[in-house]
Amino acid sequence: MHSGGCFCRAVRYQVEGVPFHETLCHCSICRRTSGAPLVAWASFQRAGFRFTSGRPARIRSSPGACRSFCAACGTPLVFEHDDFPDELDITLCSLDDPQSIPPKDHTHLRSGLSWVEAMDALPKYARGRE
Ligand SMILES: [Zn+2]
Ligand SMILES: [Zn+2]
Repeated sequence: MHSGGCFCRAVRYQVEGVPFHETLCHCSICRRTSGAPLVAWASFQRAGFRFTSGRPARIRSSPGACRSFCAACGTPLVFEHDDFPDELDITLCSLDDPQSIPPKDHTHLRSGLSWVEAMDALPKYARGRE
């Protein structure tokens, strides 16, 4: 069992089952809807998922696809596609323990930002830049 929710805690969820398709998505729609260079996701069987408090806002982000996010704080939470009605995707970083489900690949790199590929080589600081 995994639990998670949005930043402001207005929307909370629980999900059971074995995650699959754990990925870092570089598509332009994830980027625009999150404001981040990429988004980490995992898929679950829809039957194992439920909102435990609050309800998210939803937006049709492309034909057949629907994204849910907190209307108060904006955290992206869930992706659903009409072609896969028994599944849904959860943003890994909305989990209370995002370390528990590591991504296994990168997807939609063709749409990705060139500087993301170079990120590992950037200077690293344990805290703020000193
Ligand atoms: Zn919120
Ligand atoms: Zn994406």
